Order: sequence, then structure tokens, then C-alpha cells
Amino acid sequence: MSFKKKFAPRRKYCRFCENPEILLDYKHPEVLNDFVTDRGKIIASRITGTCAKHQRALTREVKRARQMALMFYTATHSTDVLKKSRV
Ligand SMILES: [Zn+2]
Repeated sequence: MSFKKKFAPRRKYCRFCENPEILLDYKHPEVLNDFVTDRGKIIASRITGTCAKHQRALTREVKRARQMALMFYTATHSTDVLKKSRV
């Protein structure tokens, strides 16, 4: 069974702890998008290296972003939606 990673972390360390300037916020779906698969699933923290605290916040913001229609549940029409939401 192959184990696909969206990005290979060089160091396994929480990106948000490392760089406090990253905004973990539903209004910044471009950040959240790094932590979901192309199908809109949240990537497990053990893969991204995100700490428990930030993983919780991330999950919350991803869910919020979905509700605000800033993110998408599936990959269909994704680029289109993203362009519109970035205006
Ligand atoms: Zn963290």
C-alpha cells in the first residue's frame, strides 16, 4: 500500500508554532488548503506534523471555511471558487 503525502515535511514540526505569522483563520483558505487533501479532507496531524493545539484550531477553521463557502468539500470547480473568494 502506498502512502501518499501531499507534501513531505523536512522537519516534522508544527508549521504554526514555527511561524506565528501564519494566520490560522477561515478567512485565509490558502493557508488551510495546505492542510487538506485535494478532495477536501483534513490531513492528519501526524502527517503534517501539526501539534494538537493547532490541529484543533485548523479543523475548526476548515469547517468554518466550508460553511462560509470559502473552501470546498470536493475537488470539482475548486479553482473557480478559489479565484472568486480571493477578490
Ligand atoms: Zn502548533
